[in-house]
Amino acid sequence: MTLFSPRDLGIGRLFELIRDAVIVADIASDRIVLWNPAAARLFGYSADEALGMPVTTIIPERYRDRHTTALEHYRATGHGDLIDAGVPLELPALRKDGSEITVELSLSPIDEPAAGGRFVLAVIRDVTERKRAEDERERRIREQVARAEAEAVQQRLAFVGEATTLLASSLDYETTLQRLADIVALRLADYCVVDIVEESGAVCRVASAHRDPALALLVKRLQDFPPAPDTPDPLHQVLQSGRPVLIAEVGEDFLQQIAVDDEHLALLRALHPTSYLAVPLHARGRTFGAVALVSTDPSRRFGPDDLALAEDLARRAALTVDNAHLYGQAQRALSTRDEFLSSAAHDLKNPLTSIKGLAQLLLRRAARLSPPERERFTEALSSIEAAATKMTQQVNELLDIARLDMGQPLALQRQPTDLVALARQAIAEQQQATERHQLRLEASESSLVGEWDAARLERVLANLLSNAVKYSPQGGEIVVRVRRDEDAAGAWAVLEVQDQGLGIPKADLPYIFERFRRGRNVQGRIAGTGIGLAGVRQIVTQHGGQISVRSQEGMGSTFSMRLPLSPREQAPALPSRNEGAARAP
Ligand code: ADP
Repeated sequence: MTLFSPRDLGIGRLFELIRDAVIVADIASDRIVLWNPAAARLFGYSADEALGMPVTTIIPERYRDRHTTALEHYRATGHGDLIDAGVPLELPALRKDGSEITVELSLSPIDEPAAGGRFVLAVIRDVTERKRAEDERERRIREQVARAEAEAVQQRLAFVGEATTLLASSLDYETTLQRLADIVALRLADYCVVDIVEESGAVCRVASAHRDPALALLVKRLQDFPPAPDTPDPLHQVLQSGRPVLIAEVGEDFLQQIAVDDEHLALLRALHPTSYLAVPLHARGRTFGAVALVSTDPSRRFGPDDLALAEDLARRAALTVDNAHLYGQAQRALSTRDEFLSSAAHDLKNPLTSIKGLAQLLLRRAARLSPPERERFTEALSSIEAAATKMTQQVNELLDIARLDMGQPLALQRQPTDLVALARQAIAEQQQATERHQLRLEASESSLVGEWDAARLERVLANLLSNAVKYSPQGGEIVVRVRRDEDAAGAWAVLEVQDQGLGIPKADLPYIFERFRRGRNVQGRIAGTGIGLAGVRQIVTQHGGQISVRSQEGMGSTFSMRLPLSPREQAPALPSRNEGAARAP
């Protein structure tokens, strides 16, 4: 092999041949003192143009200050980031035609006192194409990552949506929490346990699940080892602080810390936990439970994203549980009230019957007295009898309502009943009690007879008429219209009660037939209980009829009742409270 030194080839010739641009710059003046043909090709300046040219000519304007600062630093200290780097650096450079290129640059200092100073040798290679390809690849990767992230967010939203529907579909909190545990074990972790603080303050495990059904029993057994007061159980920490706990890496030391005895430790080891996350269940400012998520997959460590998702899910589950709890409380309160209503009504009935009976007996005796005693006694005893009758009616109404609540239909005593006669009688009774109102009957027929429960229809009429009187405090005319109507369903008896009173506010109108509902314009102003119309609707619908109201606040009201003239299928019963409640919260 022939060996030769660069000197044999001629250093100048090497300098000409080399494909990389080679430039030497003078440190003191920062001007170019050497410029090879490759540099001329790369930058577009001939050697004649380049020699003596400031180095900044080939540096893009936005980098020039940085260059000057670095140069000054180098002049003062003999050090510079670029020169000391020892590896090629990628930088932008400026060509004569103004275009920017990316170059790979290696700098080496040349100390040549003989040549009169210090120089820097720059070897420069054009990497614009490579850089562009790299940038493009990076851009594509970034796009892929963004797309994957968007998909993950999408999946997360879909998951949360699905989980929310599942959670909200039960009103029983243990079912809800077991579903939460199942979802979490299947989709977010490998196993999951849920603890609740009971009213007594005791902590109770209400749900557990494992992705692998064969291991579900092992997870369940964990509840046999409640944490001792001095063990740092993370689930209890969450219950106490209301804040989540994330232990990304669960190691043997953690298991030993929380194990209450050897058996517990063996059980924990058998489950192979690798990562742990616990989040609180909050409702109305109180932490009432905690959910622990455990991964057993060494490649899956929980991080902030899992924490956020678990917290979101726990929030939704807590809301469902709280709703179920409130709903249960409301149910219990309602049934206590109904029981009370029903038993109070029963207890009232007997004494009322005695009062009425005795009043009638005394009335018969009073008839034998001589005036003016007779009139005085008769009047007083008639009032007692009327009051007892009214109270009996109200008690019956209460009993009917309580029956409806328990989902029992009324036992209607159907018999041929004339609605015109009933209306006439009811009007006469109401008129006796008022002088400020004029009650008037407009009947298109002399009689309208159907198979109806007369006593209950009397109650309906008494209710509608007494309301018309009560809610027309200024007095005025009350018209009762009775007519016959016919449609595809058959023949109807229609009765309307029209007053010119206070009317019903628009917001209350849709609910006015519900129990305990009262118009906001009468509350605190005119006494009432809000059960009359509920009873009216109950009786009418059980007869297969309909009741409705048209009203405008301040302009009076018209209640309109339709009863089938020929017996037909009874309209669907009103929902009992239990049915209605299933849709409630
Ligand atoms: P109560 O009269 O004991 O409050 P009801 O069930 O009979 O109970 O009536 C419910 C509510 O309907 C009343 O409180 C009142 O607001 C409204 N209402 C009933 N009848 C009329 C009427 N004729 N005019 C205006 N409001 C009425």
